[in-house]
Amino acid sequence: MSSNRRPLKSLGQNFLVDQNIIEKIIHSANIQPDDAVLEIGPGRGALTGHLAQRAGRLVLIEFDHALAAYHRDCHKDNERVTVIDADVLKVDLAAILSETDRKWNVVANLPYNISTEVLFRLLEVHDRLSRMTLMLQKEVGDRLASPPDCSQYGVTTVLLGLWFDIRRNFIVPPGCFHPSPKVDSAILNFTPLLNPRADVGDENIFKYVVKAAFSMRRKTLANCLKSAECIKGVDPELLLNSCNIDGRRRGETLSLEEFARLSLWLTENAPSNA
Ligand code: SAM
Repeated sequence: MSSNRRPLKSLGQNFLVDQNIIEKIIHSANIQPDDAVLEIGPGRGALTGHLAQRAGRLVLIEFDHALAAYHRDCHKDNERVTVIDADVLKVDLAAILSETDRKWNVVANLPYNISTEVLFRLLEVHDRLSRMTLMLQKEVGDRLASPPDCSQYGVTTVLLGLWFDIRRNFIVPPGCFHPSPKVDSAILNFTPLLNPRADVGDENIFKYVVKAAFSMRRKTLANCLKSAECIKGVDPELLLNSCNIDGRRRGETLSLEEFARLSLWLTENAPSNA
């Protein structure tokens, strides 16, 4: 069985070929012998062999059936490795990660076309994770590590920032992949927090408020909130005054703590509206 078929653009198949970078990624993932590791999109296995050598348990999720079959064959004698031939956006991640009490170390060179969606899936299971080492498009990484009032600051920055410490580790240039992508990539380390960075009350309300605030970037916060479903029935001025936030500001200038204040107030004063 071979893994050498032409890479599929539709599945974001930019395979790592630079051995130095592969070793740097493995080093930054800090795999311990009793770690349970999840690799999303093992591809041709640039990282997988290293992970299988180091981890106590390894689960691979690969959507390309031929590559999933290749890995099943490669690891058929290793009972510590399981291959799931599926779309990571459709599997029940919480169920997969519940097979052990150990928290999971996630390692992935993510397909760029779905990386943000995958991040949101991983956010849903943050309490099952010990660490994540993810390759993302540099621009997506910059967004995650961005402070308020920068053009990159956005929904992902705030929502993931609630539950993770995020550190950009190093840049990976296009030449390290086959085929080469058009842009730089970055390796980021995510450390899950035991408690959220701020008390947001109901997390669904927090998500709605953050999304509403960024929905029309040129409008003021008061205007964005006026049309937001999540605060239906609540006067935006009352909300903003109660939280001591100037409604003439734009959503992108609010810190995570300020979003948390809005969400907590809504949770406590309009709990049935989200
Ligand atoms: N880990 C390999 C490497 O570093 O060389 C491959 C990385 S490549 C950027 C992304 C991998 O994710 C590919 O193997 C692709 O087939 C797989 N993939 C794409 N979409 C997927 C999905 N929805 N679910 C699971 N795997 C997916």
